[in-house]
Amino acid sequence: MTLSIRNIIPIIKATFVGINDIAIVDHISIDSRSLQNSESTLFFALVGPNNDGHKFVADLFEKGVMNFVVNYIPSNVQGKANFLVVENSVQALQTFATTYRSDFNFPVIGITGSNGKTIIKEWLNFLLSPDYNIIRSPKSYNSQVGVPLSVLGINEKHNLGIFEAGISTINEMANLQRIIQPTLGVLSNIGSAHNEGFHDVGEKIKEKLKLFSSVEVLIMNKNRTIEAFLNPKINTFTWSSEDGKADVFVRAKESPDKTELQITFQKLCFKIMIPFADQASIENAMHCLMVLLYFKYDHETIQHRMAMLYPVEMRLKVKNGVNNTTLIDDSYSSDFQSLKIALDFLESQKQYKKKTLILSDIFQSGLVTEELYSQVSQVIVSNKINRVIAIGKTISGFKSKFPNCLTFQSTAQFLDTIDKITFENETILIKGARHFHFEEIVATLEEKTHETVLEINLNAISHNLNFYKSKLQPETKLMVMVKAFSYGNGGFEVAKLLSHHKVDYLGVAFADEGISLKNAEIELPIMVLNPENTSFAALIQHQLEPEIYSLKGLTAFLKIAEQKKLKNFPIHIKLDTGMHRLGFEEEHIDELIAILKNNTNVQIKSILSHLATSDDMAFVDFTLAQIKLFEKLSSQLMNALQIKPIRHILNTSGISNFPQAQYDMVRLGIGLYGVSNDDDEQKLLENVGTLKSIISQIRTIKAGESVGYGRRFMAEKTTKIATIPIGYADGISRHWGNGVGYVVIKNKKAPVVGSVCMDMLMVDITDIDCKEGTDVIIFGENPTVSFIAKQLGTIPYEIMTSISQRVKRVFYRE
Ligand SMILES: *Cc1c(COP(=O)(O)O)cnc(C)c1O
Repeated sequence: MTLSIRNIIPIIKATFVGINDIAIVDHISIDSRSLQNSESTLFFALVGPNNDGHKFVADLFEKGVMNFVVNYIPSNVQGKANFLVVENSVQALQTFATTYRSDFNFPVIGITGSNGKTIIKEWLNFLLSPDYNIIRSPKSYNSQVGVPLSVLGINEKHNLGIFEAGISTINEMANLQRIIQPTLGVLSNIGSAHNEGFHDVGEKIKEKLKLFSSVEVLIMNKNRTIEAFLNPKINTFTWSSEDGKADVFVRAKESPDKTELQITFQKLCFKIMIPFADQASIENAMHCLMVLLYFKYDHETIQHRMAMLYPVEMRLKVKNGVNNTTLIDDSYSSDFQSLKIALDFLESQKQYKKKTLILSDIFQSGLVTEELYSQVSQVIVSNKINRVIAIGKTISGFKSKFPNCLTFQSTAQFLDTIDKITFENETILIKGARHFHFEEIVATLEEKTHETVLEINLNAISHNLNFYKSKLQPETKLMVMVKAFSYGNGGFEVAKLLSHHKVDYLGVAFADEGISLKNAEIELPIMVLNPENTSFAALIQHQLEPEIYSLKGLTAFLKIAEQKKLKNFPIHIKLDTGMHRLGFEEEHIDELIAILKNNTNVQIKSILSHLATSDDMAFVDFTLAQIKLFEKLSSQLMNALQIKPIRHILNTSGISNFPQAQYDMVRLGIGLYGVSNDDDEQKLLENVGTLKSIISQIRTIKAGESVGYGRRFMAEKTTKIATIPIGYADGISRHWGNGVGYVVIKNKKAPVVGSVCMDMLMVDITDIDCKEGTDVIIFGENPTVSFIAKQLGTIPYEIMTSISQRVKRVFYRE
């Protein structure tokens, strides 16, 4: 895309305020954190429920961005850059994409439905790419903002588009239809996802079908309910395994790892094999097959290509590598759009300053090779990548375009020499097209761990953060509690993500937790809830901000502050309003004022208190009394000292139940990690941690035989037992043993039999089809941490923070 500002103005009906309306733009950005910003970027300052792009305009201008689409011109940049002022920048982005799309005239497949969209899109891309130059949505960019960005990636060389559209409530699809303008539709299936956004299933179906309002054909699983809602003018091409009236009839014969699909189409029968045996994959494969039939592929080509379908890896995984390295594993795709996303992710997750990129040849950009690698080189340079390892015959030819570049003809050649290359103290992004088998590189560079891991979904953390942010007044600040390794979910990585999201404060319990975050270059201000007097010096040295809760603590801190000649060092004053744990009480306030009156060594950055029963509406009066006392005592301090500090009292359930008491800041804890004590709210959060292991060994025991210490399980019949390498030393309570708890294997419950041991536990798998090495879920979506807590008579906080540090944390992003 290359357009001048002058051409864009009328498209989005903008008022131009600026210096140079013939400036050329060739790149659209909405994320101020992306490092791919430059003079030829057009930045859309979007306003969402949680973020306001206008806040970052000045910053971007400093970095060289010159062109902005805004709802208003922020005061600090007036007269400096080119502004396209519109009423609504999100709509402007959509309108721009719609017009841009209209300039291209090639088949476009639009996919929607509740499940399977991304897999169908990736598979179609794989199946059709030998014959087409395809533009497709990167990852699962399917939203009101993701779709326009995907469409804006089209260029002159593309001759087929595949885009997915996702909606969560009514009146969203018509927009996406206009932007995508699909000529061929695929409806994956309608499940229960996002039900809360709709009145009833009918409303949801009607909304989804809007994507297909002007397609030449709609491919779907034959279904009367859906057809009843369909405009009869729309041509359908349907398949079914039950209804003989469908255009294509299929019978599936499943064996353990593959399925034979017997297809009947236009009176002809033929068979294809797919390397999957689960129902969801069979459905997804059928939708793809229908597209191939519609495109008139012959049976042989269909058979050949569909046999090669592969599991779609939708996640970017963060793994610990050898010699203090962090690996970002994106070893399943290599195209220009997803390279940009992966580089953004690298920036947000890098634990080490030094960045290496291992990259294969890039396919299907639609661009001429020379130009493609020039563009790749540009993004690599602007992302300040220190070293590039280029693997593949084509990319090797462009060595001179990349910084500090090593080239290899093939993955095998690289693996032969890998021992001679140093990898240490750096973050490594590994990104390659599927057939380069970069998973072998990941396996070689990965630190070897044992089989039990706690997987942390970073997207879910972002989702939950945004959920709580949306409950706040626009000016309310946000402190996130990352004490106890972010409630067991990982210290540095979570803090890094929160910095990326620009929260205002972090909260930790002890000085050493804060010090390790500062050492990992977390720059956010950090409040320490419970600083010990002995840690004051270290705390000052690391710019950590203490919570002061007693006269004794205050005197001790002031003494050091004076010795060190500090000026306005930030401290936080904790008031006890009823929790009776830490804090100044009413009777101490006068003395507190007297001590602080003319002190210039410290500055009261904030005043806080903590609620004892914010989660329990039975005690609503008690909470309101706490809030009232907080108001009184904090006002007294503020008036006497003539200060305007940040005031805060709400924790997670306080945010939900007492929104009137947000004051200037709130302190989010457990909700970020996906747990709410309110059932309705729980449905709107996403699960963050999944504790996983595998089956080490399987045996069959006879009636009368026992399992484990103390023979506490006695088999009543022939029983199949699996041993899982996780025990109480990993944080699994012994109370979870002897039939109380269960793990999930292949979506089925396997009860824990006998006592939980230190490093292992045993489960009954008599009715489950599984092998040694099969995955085991201890908690996650099912069972949830909240469920386990209830069974064990405790709270989710305890379950989460009990998972010991010997369990590796693996972070990923979808
Ligand atoms: C832990 C903690 C929080 C967060 O509580 P959640 O219930 O997890 O939201 C807030 N404030 C203080 C003082 C805390 O100790």
